[in-house]
Amino acid sequence: MLIRLRKHLPEAEIQAILAAADQMGFQARFLDRERELVELSGPSRPDARSRLEDLAGVRDVLDAGESRELFARDPARRSSPHAGDSVVSVGQARFGAGHVSLIAGPCAVEGAERLIEIALGVRERGATVLRGGAFKPRTSPYSFQGARHEGLEWLRRAKLESGLPVVTELLDPRDVELVGEIADMFQIGSRNMANTPLLSEVGRTRKPVLLKRGFAASLRELLLAAEFVLAGGNENVVLCERGIRGFDPNTRNVLDVGAVAHLKRATHLPVIVDPSHAAGRPDLVRALARAGLAAGADGVICEVHTHPYEVHCDGHQAISLEEFARLTADARAIAALDGRRLVTDSAQETVS
Ligand code: PEP
Ligand code: MN
Repeated sequence: MLIRLRKHLPEAEIQAILAAADQMGFQARFLDRERELVELSGPSRPDARSRLEDLAGVRDVLDAGESRELFARDPARRSSPHAGDSVVSVGQARFGAGHVSLIAGPCAVEGAERLIEIALGVRERGATVLRGGAFKPRTSPYSFQGARHEGLEWLRRAKLESGLPVVTELLDPRDVELVGEIADMFQIGSRNMANTPLLSEVGRTRKPVLLKRGFAASLRELLLAAEFVLAGGNENVVLCERGIRGFDPNTRNVLDVGAVAHLKRATHLPVIVDPSHAAGRPDLVRALARAGLAAGADGVICEVHTHPYEVHCDGHQAISLEEFARLTADARAIAALDGRRLVTDSAQETVS
């Protein structure tokens, strides 16, 4: 590791830093006469960078060397595509290492009948995971907060009827067991990306986690949020770029495709895009899904509805089943362009 100290540090502060490094098992060696550049050799440990950055006298960590956080991709494997990628499986869906999968469904579950209709519809058109929130994180306390316990029941029925695994949002660490009974994958939403007790709680499970980027979160903040889950021993984390705050009202958010490309280099974790919350309107969803996949995304999560005018939540951005079928065809073609494969349940996919 290579760290840089602040200029003209008093000797006592230098000694405190050396003591901290020693405690972490590192041998320190100054590389310059000013005693600002310090080479640390020793064990590879994921906590080294953050612990050193926390010390008042440390200006920055110039090179973490082998001391990588758990999310980090081995730099030696950055150039060969998919080498060292983690794969996260949810039922038949596979994310990462050249596998691309699609998650689709309503924003919120608002009734069993519609949910089952949508589940069967998206399954036939290439989705391998059903989405749908029972607990909804709404911006206003007066907006529909989700069907909650009843919603979980509807998800259970839709799973049974369609055979699709489900991803549903977890809002409260106290609900891990309750939601975990039905969810095959926990969704941690944008508004909760930095909720560390919640992240630690899902880190204690071994269930896949879909971690959405906060709408004003840096990529390092997203990766460190994932680190909370990984540090608990849960390796099944899928990151999701869902758009960041912009200034132009034509789209709800700005899909950060640069983030997708960067994340694919920075981490071995799978990365997917959510074009629905980025666009905020159905006519741009397919274009953004294509852009995300072209940038290297390992999958797409999107909102699909058969009766968008009936719903309380995000009906204005849901795409139709027909549009979802077109998105699936695009995803298959784009994945194939760089030797990747769209994973579908071919036995189910009858509509193309
Ligand atoms: C959602 O997926 O419905 C949702 C609320 O997403 P986000 O957390 O990205 O806003
Ligand atoms: Mn939504």
